Amino acid sequence: MDRLSATDLAELSALCPGGVARDVDLSAISQWRIGGRADLVLRPEDTVQVAALLRWFADRSIHPVVIGLTSNLLFDDTGLRAPCIQIGTRMAQTRIEGADVHAAAGVWVPGLARRLMLAGLGGGEHICGIPGTLGGLICMNGGSQRKGIGSAVVTVDSVDLDGTIHQRRADACGFAYRRSVFQTNGEIITACHLRLASRPRTEIRAEMRAILADRRHKFPRKEPNCGSVFKSNPAMYAEIGAPGAAIESLGFKGQRIGGALVSPRHANFIVNTGGARAQDVLTLIARIVEAVEVATGYRMEAEAIFVHADGRLQPADTVLEGSS
Ligand SMILES: Cc1cc2nc3c(=O)[nH]c(=O)nc-3n(C[C@H](O)[C@H](O)[C@H](O)COP(=O)(O)OP(=O)(O)OC[C@H]3O[C@@H](n4cnc5c(N)ncnc54)[C@H](O)[C@@H]3O)c2cc1C
Repeated sequence: MDRLSATDLAELSALCPGGVARDVDLSAISQWRIGGRADLVLRPEDTVQVAALLRWFADRSIHPVVIGLTSNLLFDDTGLRAPCIQIGTRMAQTRIEGADVHAAAGVWVPGLARRLMLAGLGGGEHICGIPGTLGGLICMNGGSQRKGIGSAVVTVDSVDLDGTIHQRRADACGFAYRRSVFQTNGEIITACHLRLASRPRTEIRAEMRAILADRRHKFPRKEPNCGSVFKSNPAMYAEIGAPGAAIESLGFKGQRIGGALVSPRHANFIVNTGGARAQDVLTLIARIVEAVEVATGYRMEAEAIFVHADGRLQPADTVLEGSS
């Protein structure tokens, strides 16, 4: 993106009052604590602001990148020149009516899981330990315990690159294992309607406690990370096991490049032990993918997404493909 003029900045500030930040240190806001500086981060408050911003960028043929809480993202060491729209705490309203939940996309997922529990609504237990926004969760069709949030979705509200507002029923969202249409259509999710089922609070609380205890036991606790780096592949799972088991069996636990380390606690996590660069993580990922493919015949796909400086998003396992 060309340098923004004072007029551009004034217009953006009018469209997104109080939500314009310049020269943002991505290593300070990203969950992996990796990345250079972003020229422009916009944090809208509602769907109308999102639509107005997207129209402004469309008029100038600029494609902004959308992020949530960055819990699945690896930012380029050189930072981000494309404008970034972050849907987060400024867009976090929730309304519960019986079994129906209407929530804005910036809602923090563990907080939503707790609200569902307090309302006696079951079906959201599996999301209680996922540290992202609802918008990011829907885009990734994230979940745990072999579930995805898509199965609880009734409709999703989004804004396309021209600033037009859409509402899609769940069957038009392309939900599949860790997939949705929002990964490719460029739309920004602004809200969603979930439907859950009534369940005694004590049962929900017990299940959530068990899930959180299991995660505390298995996952790295202190070092910054992005959750599971690789997706599970059902055929590989049946034959070899989960990605973590395959990576561990090849002796990768504890291997490091720069500040990036394959977690000694769980081999499907790469943690930042301090000063890790995106290049360190990408190189480690490429070595793991190659070694697992040679040993098992399965090519693992990354769940983690690399954010190029120009705003393009790319699965982290494919970034260095063919470069060695
Ligand atoms: C410790 C840890 C544990 C994790 N455990 C799990 C787990 O158990 N299960 C699981 O599925 N994931 C897990 N994750 C990964 C991650 O938390 C999820 O993918 C999460 O849903 C991403 O949400 P986010 O707001 O951080 O999105 P981001 O990481 O910011 O973005 C992820 C993707 O969603 C897109 N996106 C974000 N917001 C929007 C929006 N409003 N509209 C359109 N697109 C959007 C982005 O462009 C990007 O493509 C874990 C991560 C960590 C750090």
